Amino acid sequence: MNKDQFLCPNDGTPMRRDLRPVTLTYKGENLTFDLAGWYCDKCGESVHVGRDLKDSDRMLNRLKARTDGLLSPEEIRRIRRRLGLSQAEAGELVGGGPRAFQKYEAGDLLPSRAISSALTLLNRDPGGLEILKTTRTRLGRAS
Ligand SMILES: [Zn+2]
Repeated sequence: MNKDQFLCPNDGTPMRRDLRPVTLTYKGENLTFDLAGWYCDKCGESVHVGRDLKDSDRMLNRLKARTDGLLSPEEIRRIRRRLGLSQAEAGELVGGGPRAFQKYEAGDLLPSRAISSALTLLNRDPGGLEILKTTRTRLGRAS
């Protein structure tokens, strides 16, 4: 027995695993992508399980980042690597905490405008990183 089989909630037809285009809308901006899910060939109903919803959440974050002028997961990763920082170091120096960059780069968490702005500035002038390190050290000593 296939426990992953879904029956259509409307008409009881066995649903089929497929990729179909969906369009997300945010502040009047649209993003269309292929979303995996269980689809009913009879009425077009769809059911989305955990990882489908995660994919959908990531695409929504991508649309929000694009619409609001925040950095994309790929840009964040590229800038962090250019700065020679591990994900944990970036979370410590730039902000967000040790696990933040892992989530930004996976697309699971939208960066704040402050994080996005700081990275944009550091990308333009990587020397700014030394200022952050110095500040960090000074704060470390003071506490
Ligand atoms: Zn149906």
